Amino acid sequence: MNPEKKLVINIIEREHVRIHCCATPDDGERVNAQIIETANKLVIVDATLMRPYAKELREYADSLRKPIDRVFVTHAHPDHWFGLEYFQDLDVFAFPETIEEIKNFAQIALDFHKTQHGDLVTDTVYLPDKKIVDNEVVIDGVLFRLFKIVAAEDLFMLALDLPEDKTFIAQDLLYNKVHLFVGQRSLDGTLCFDGWITALKKFQNENYEVVLPGHGVPADAALFQENISNLEKVKSILLASTGENFVQNIVEAFPDYGLRSMVEMSAFFLFQMK
Ligand SMILES: [Zn+2]
Repeated sequence: MNPEKKLVINIIEREHVRIHCCATPDDGERVNAQIIETANKLVIVDATLMRPYAKELREYADSLRKPIDRVFVTHAHPDHWFGLEYFQDLDVFAFPETIEEIKNFAQIALDFHKTQHGDLVTDTVYLPDKKIVDNEVVIDGVLFRLFKIVAAEDLFMLALDLPEDKTFIAQDLLYNKVHLFVGQRSLDGTLCFDGWITALKKFQNENYEVVLPGHGVPADAALFQENISNLEKVKSILLASTGENFVQNIVEAFPDYGLRSMVEMSAFFLFQMK
């Protein structure tokens, strides 16, 4: 656990890059931002939720003394873009659909988190200013492949990989020992589970050696099957639960998982925002 209100930074050495996995504490939803350090540059993936951690993330990146080439925002959930407040001087890339989704969802996200965190979260919507149009990019000689995933943990998601380093930057396609956020419905009301499982199966057999989840510590490719099994289990629990007992049923089914607040947030969106 991490009782201090600081980022926990896990450094992973690969052949062509060094990855700094920057994990926020529980009050920041244990969300990770990833800093991919190439020989001469930095690439940041996601910006965290709360002001103190986003500020610390920027200060840490600056302390590495390499230019930040760009920031990628993987999806429209606020724990991945609220912190853009501290990255406004940089090119921030997202899929056009994600930028639209942030616009549409921003007020709900601000209202929800302002009541919980007050001034510890932004008051302002900071939109990514660059649209991702290609499915790969070479940055400082390193190939990043960019995958668009539809109807999984969020309506639209970016996952990245570094094929030369057998590394998958999953962000919220994968969670590690943190309760899954399963509150996102498609525009037609469909639950997230089936689309999410389909997306995981697509990447499961790519022979990745390192996978970086959006919440929880970095892992290996076994995390794919663990998440697929968890999604199937959470789905069956949800279908047998009510708004009154869903949270308790999930917490009892995953006793060693962290962040009960994530289950409560799922319940809010599943049962109150229908
Ligand atoms: Zn997240």
